[in-house]
Amino acid sequence: MAGAEEMAGERARMVERQLVARDIRDERVLEAMGTIPREAFLSEVDRGRAYADAAVGIDAGQTISQPYMVARMTELLAIRPGERVLELGTGSGYQAAVLATLGAEVLSLERHPELARQARARLDDLGLGERVRIQVADGSLGDRASGPYDGIIVTAAAPAVPQELRDQLAEGGRLVIPVGARDLQTLLLVERHGSDWIETPHGGCIFVPLIGPGGFPE
Ligand code: SAM
Repeated sequence: MAGAEEMAGERARMVERQLVARDIRDERVLEAMGTIPREAFLSEVDRGRAYADAAVGIDAGQTISQPYMVARMTELLAIRPGERVLELGTGSGYQAAVLATLGAEVLSLERHPELARQARARLDDLGLGERVRIQVADGSLGDRASGPYDGIIVTAAAPAVPQELRDQLAEGGRLVIPVGARDLQTLLLVERHGSDWIETPHGGCIFVPLIGPGGFPE
């Protein structure tokens, strides 16, 4: 098992080679991802892959996203401290940790109770638990009751942008979501201005499916 110092070195290399070298420019995102111990979000056997340039498997057949994808989505979300963010797909809890470190108040929904439990424990251990509320729920249509949100981040693939998620954005709010087929999607940024939603594509990506009425059938 690599020690904390070795992991810190791997983390710094990940930031330089996978993020800075690929045009992630937001200093706050670079700092957050250069600080958070990503290895804490993986099981003991997978810790050696914490800074791999790839998604890594977690329990329940799910994944922790590739570091570059976490950085890109977070940068697009352009969160300011105190803003309210809805995350759909808690998974390991790593993305929620990045958002909380940026000062967001996060509500994160996860359909697998075991993943939600593990993520809760990890965020508490890192002292980020107060900023992140995790609920076990089908979040494919968001959570209208707790909205509107300054940011919505969907960390699983949807066949289309659910209108319910557009409606849960606050004025000026941003939604980042992978949209497309089950095996290949486009990362979309959707910005709300009144009753207009401006969509911009940000390249190809591959995510596990969002399951439910706003996503794919199981
Ligand atoms: N953000 C996560 C992280 O930082 O580790 C990665 C998320 S993983 C790529 C996608 C997650 O979405 C899985 O944990 C999966 O169980 C969850 N998911 C899929 N459909 C969902 C739904 N309808 N509601 C809530 N979570 C869902």
